[in-house]
Amino acid sequence: MAEILQNKGSHRILAVMTGIEGETPLELIETAGRTAYQSRDKITDDSAVKFTEMIRKRGHESVIEHSAMIVEFNDVSRGFTHELVRHRLVAYTQESTRYVDESNFKVVIPPDKNPDEKLVTLSLTNGNLIEVSFGDWMNLNEQMYRGLRKAGWVAQDARQVLPIATKSQIVATANFREWRHIFRLRCALNAHWEIRRVMVNLLRDVKKRVPVIFDDFEIDDETISAKIKTS
Ligand SMILES: Cc1cc2nc3c(=O)[nH]c(=O)nc-3n(C[C@H](O)[C@H](O)[C@H](O)COP(=O)(O)OP(=O)(O)OC[C@H]3O[C@@H](n4cnc5c(N)ncnc54)[C@H](O)[C@@H]3O)c2cc1C
Repeated sequence: MAEILQNKGSHRILAVMTGIEGETPLELIETAGRTAYQSRDKITDDSAVKFTEMIRKRGHESVIEHSAMIVEFNDVSRGFTHELVRHRLVAYTQESTRYVDESNFKVVIPPDKNPDEKLVTLSLTNGNLIEVSFGDWMNLNEQMYRGLRKAGWVAQDARQVLPIATKSQIVATANFREWRHIFRLRCALNAHWEIRRVMVNLLRDVKKRVPVIFDDFEIDDETISAKIKTS
């Protein structure tokens, strides 16, 4: 039986770029940024926060590119990953359906849908009608995939019957400017529910781990969305 994943999409931050001497992301950004003004002599123990805040508020976003983050996304669908990889300034590595056998595949269903509800009537070639649910359809898919594999089809051929709901894993590396761009687009209310929920949770996490850079994003827990505060 195909395993159904509902509200399971998650992230794991693998790394946040820090300096070789243990500098925090903000300290890296300050060191790089002060090159412009030749003002590294102004660096103090607590100047990085103010400097980065100033840079962000003035919209000098290229300076924020001097630190980066690697994130792994788990239990997300191929639909999610297809949307994510449209962001071009990111390095990706994704679970391959060419090489990985999907005989025990998992699928992502929308958060408000019942996988067992018989919603659709299918007519069989013998004229009989059967009621099927989302879960039934995924099980048929799984049986088809397994059957093709058994018949000698390699994974990269049998994958043609996999649905867009198929669970995937992807690792994404980008600088903070690009992550801000991704959050702006993918946490917005009009973004797809799956990527929006996962990105809002990631944003919540990075707001705690990396000060200042994402402070201007405001999360709305009720709608599970986020946007930049306008003040
Ligand atoms: C709600 C929503 C609905 C969408 N619907 C559709 C849809 O129906 N069909 C569809 O095809 N796509 C759709 N997309 C994807 C969308 O069109 C973009 O491909 C995706 O959001 C990546 O955005 P981007 O190009 O700004 O970002 P990135 O690729 O992350 O680039 C970041 C920024 O870098 C700059 N940049 C990057 N590459 C270049 C370049 N080659 N030349 C100049 N500047 C560059 C741009 O300023 C860009 O904004 C949708 C996206 C969202 C958020």
